[in-house]
Amino acid sequence: MDSVFAVITMDLAGHELERYDRQLKINGWGNEGQMKLKSSKVVVAGAGGLGCPASIYLVASGFGKVRIIDDEKVELSNLNRQILHWTSDIGVFKVDSASLKLRSLNPNVEVEGLRCKITRENVHDMIRGFNVVVDAMDNYRTRYILNEACVREGIPLIHGAVYGFEGQLTTVVPHITPCLSCIFPQVPPEVEKPPVVGTTPALIATLQVTEAIKLITGIGENVLGRLLIYDGTDMSFQEIKVQRNPECPVCGT
Ligand SMILES: [Zn+2]
Repeated sequence: MDSVFAVITMDLAGHELERYDRQLKINGWGNEGQMKLKSSKVVVAGAGGLGCPASIYLVASGFGKVRIIDDEKVELSNLNRQILHWTSDIGVFKVDSASLKLRSLNPNVEVEGLRCKITRENVHDMIRGFNVVVDAMDNYRTRYILNEACVREGIPLIHGAVYGFEGQLTTVVPHITPCLSCIFPQVPPEVEKPPVVGTTPALIATLQVTEAIKLITGIGENVLGRLLIYDGTDMSFQEIKVQRNPECPVCGT
């Protein structure tokens, strides 16, 4: 899809050219692609297993602003997968633990941590004006809230979810692709504190950031109308074609 940035007025500084040197060399990226990233703002909903690796790669690749939303504090049982939080961070708000390291990783990026829970009441204020939302949630109740708000605001939502060695990914572009409610009309069964090996969210999150980079730079094709399913136990990737539901209560006509 075409990028939304028709006019780019910023220039890259010398230190940015050096920092991003290896990605600037990618076909179709160059200074223009990097400036598109620098002009764009991403919401990462959740600072856990998906949100940590997602925000690391968003910040490392040079998005202009990354807003991370989470209301929890770091616990010992988070540390097998939530790689921005370390043993010394136990008891600290996740957004504070994450923001500190992310700013140190790349001070060119505006990193904002919001200590709050996403609700129907506040979600629009949290995402309005942003270019992409990364779904790094651990429950479908909040995913549906995000999905509906993204459809209303016209903001692409990059969905990721994990369980054990399994993960899934799709990119929702409002009114073009199916939304999460089209794909999952009923809330999938959920387990409190599901099993997770840390590499599963790491993989899905890096795929989510790859999707965000492609959406913004216009390089390649996104996972549109397809649900990608990863199974680490036999190292397989499968795809399910998904379609819009004209009767969808969220995005239907
Ligand atoms: Zn829908």
